[in-house]
Amino acid sequence: MAIKEPEVMNPYAQAVAQFDAAAERLNLSPSLRKILRKPKRELIVNFPVRMDDGTIEMYTGYRVQHNVNRGPAKGGIRFDSNVSLDEVRALAMWMTWKCAVVNIPFGGAKGGVIVDPHALSRTELERLTRRYATEIAGVIGPESDIPAPDVNTNPQIMAWIMDTYSMHHGYSVPAVVTGKPLSVGGSEGRMEATGRGVYITTREACKVLDIPLKGARVIVQGFGNVGSITARLLHEAGCKVVGLADVTGGYYNKNGIDVKMALRYSQEHGGLLKDLPHAEHVEGKGILEMPCDILIPAALEGQLTEENAPRVQAKLIIEAANGPTTNEADAIFHARGIPVVPDILANAGGVTVSYFEWVQDLQHFFWTEHEINERLERIMVRSFEAVEAKREEQNCDYRLAAYLLAVSRVAEATQVRGIYP
Ligand code: NAD
Repeated sequence: MAIKEPEVMNPYAQAVAQFDAAAERLNLSPSLRKILRKPKRELIVNFPVRMDDGTIEMYTGYRVQHNVNRGPAKGGIRFDSNVSLDEVRALAMWMTWKCAVVNIPFGGAKGGVIVDPHALSRTELERLTRRYATEIAGVIGPESDIPAPDVNTNPQIMAWIMDTYSMHHGYSVPAVVTGKPLSVGGSEGRMEATGRGVYITTREACKVLDIPLKGARVIVQGFGNVGSITARLLHEAGCKVVGLADVTGGYYNKNGIDVKMALRYSQEHGGLLKDLPHAEHVEGKGILEMPCDILIPAALEGQLTEENAPRVQAKLIIEAANGPTTNEADAIFHARGIPVVPDILANAGGVTVSYFEWVQDLQHFFWTEHEINERLERIMVRSFEAVEAKREEQNCDYRLAAYLLAVSRVAEATQVRGIYP
């Protein structure tokens, strides 16, 4: 059963507070602060969907663009019952900083629909997706705003969005979304990109912090696209994955879990880890407090809070999910000397390969998986090194260092473009 905790903090307030801390340290002008604190555009859509039994249900969806001064807006679409405007705003703002920290020419956006997609049939899901895509068609496009997968959305859903947008235009527009299937202009390596980026970041952080990757005990919370691939790559790199978790709860084995077995198990059990064999079941968010060296939240925001942060036993936290650590928990980890590598750096591999997909679609010229992974590796390592250098220079934590780099890039672009009219 779902183990969703009550909302601990408004994610948008959290995102703005993180920005404010960086703006303060950068001594940003009051006018730039005013501009960057607010999303540029917010679209709310209420739309009907015909259910299989002929009845009509109304759904609410959002698309928020935070900033487009460095390039078209970019960000995923989430289908979840807990989606809210403030959540989408926070995620859009984080996308702006994420694209800037890895220095790819995009601004930030995010979308979402308030829906439990598991309660819909495939045909209902397709109609909901196509109608939502039509409702937001006026603000998305290959030159303006390019959606991608996020929680509970996948390549099939991206294909439906691309097809719907293309039908309205009378020709195929593959570059309108990324994370598509390969057969319709998707990129090699995109499915794995976020997890691969998390893996590269973990490896680089371990080098700096003198944590041997081989044998390091790892816990990954979330076993979807990001969590499962992160766990597999770390397992292959010689880490001992001692804990996994998904919406059905946590699973711990101090001697290590065979991640490939867990992947097969979840594939055979409707994408869930429920009753995973050879592991102790851990209730709720308890997995986050179990013994480990590296803790990787890869599910949802607001998981590490002031309540559980004092009991976390990890030596290093890598944020694979967006916003998994509340600002209060962040302060506790800082005081306890536990480094937290922030989401805007750690999970930027997804948007980086989305950028590659978009470039390939625009050029109708496709690269090999080897080329993709090599370029991803270069960008992730370069970005980690830039954040590490900033952290040392400013004597601050990883989050502030990443924000200082990202916010200064966005502020510079905003400043140099000037205010219209
Ligand atoms: P997903 O839908 O593929 O997987 C989500 C996973 O989290 C599932 O295993 C689910 O069971 C689990 N989960 C849900 N609620 C939970 C709970 N209360 N406790 C424990 N586990 C829970 O989603 P995803 O694409 O893997 O995204 C995960 C996180 O990574 C999100 O924060 C997302 O914004 C972020 N992210 C995703 C991408 C991407 O490319 N997909 C890129 C960057 C960041």
